[in-house]
Amino acid sequence: MKTQQCVNCGTQDAMQHFEGRSFTIDYKQVARQVHDIAGWECRSCGEIEFDHDTDSAERYSRVSDQLLEDYAQAIGTEMKRIRRKLQLTQKDAVKLLSGGGHNAFSRYERGEIAPPQPLFMLMRLLDRHPHLMAEVRALSEGTDLKQLLAICHPEQEIVLTP
Ligand SMILES: [Zn+2]
Repeated sequence: MKTQQCVNCGTQDAMQHFEGRSFTIDYKQVARQVHDIAGWECRSCGEIEFDHDTDSAERYSRVSDQLLEDYAQAIGTEMKRIRRKLQLTQKDAVKLLSGGGHNAFSRYERGEIAPPQPLFMLMRLLDRHPHLMAEVRALSEGTDLKQLLAICHPEQEIVLTP
């Protein structure tokens, strides 16, 4: 059996060669399989290194990259679908929901950057309960915050800007 010193923990002859193995690549809630992989696995620390003289390493990273890209695209498409369902422009969506830069939503929707997890959760909640947009609009007026601040600091005149 082919063995070699572990590249990670340094244990002599701990890495054993394997071939024809299938791996599952997990990312968030999705997974993909890549088959017929050859490489080395350490019996001591579990480190795995793919063969570079076959196309194993390349195929593994291609499937992995594609999974990340497809995931980002799917999230982006979902963000866009929900925003349109809520009848918001990207500008409205930034103002009412995400804050941040003016082109944030366009970047989320193109799958360039992942939306912050709380924002994506909020979008999904609004997708299920679109009538809550009325509450979002009311809350973003800030009347309740104005009152809250007035109670905490009655000596100050509070001015909230939109
Ligand atoms: Zn090791």
